[in-house]
Amino acid sequence: MSENKFEAWMRLAIEAANESGTAYGAVIVNQEGNVVAKRGNTVKPDHDATCHAEMNALRTTHKISKSASLEGYTLITTVEPCSMCLAASLWSQIGTIVFGAGVEDVLNAGGDQIALPSEKLNQSSPKPLKLEGGVLHNECVELVNQHYNK
Ligand SMILES: [Zn+2]
Repeated sequence: MSENKFEAWMRLAIEAANESGTAYGAVIVNQEGNVVAKRGNTVKPDHDATCHAEMNALRTTHKISKSASLEGYTLITTVEPCSMCLAASLWSQIGTIVFGAGVEDVLNAGGDQIALPSEKLNQSSPKPLKLEGGVLHNECVELVNQHYNK
């Protein structure tokens, strides 16, 4: 998979973030590279603290694929996944997570984020997934800064 493809998917994730009025957007693509889910953070409208963009995208993909296993799928998210979203991704057996801004970027912007590096939790799993950060990093940090009015 080329970096260009990751960037193209990240632009869709950024679009999902903007559509949700938050800094958080996520896209899931299947083995063929087709976008299966494109979701933003809906914690406020859904009155549900678990409705992070990644959780929403995972739920949509599970529903569409009618499978509890998302092996071979790739999750692209504007911000490094929090512990909840990473754990859910590990349980779903998703193969790869690509993210833009890091946890430290959210903290620097004044946002709330559980300050646990995703790789640390990932390596605690019996089956770690592939984590790749920094895709369209500047655009994603800009999104985060805009959201937190920095
Ligand atoms: Zn999360």
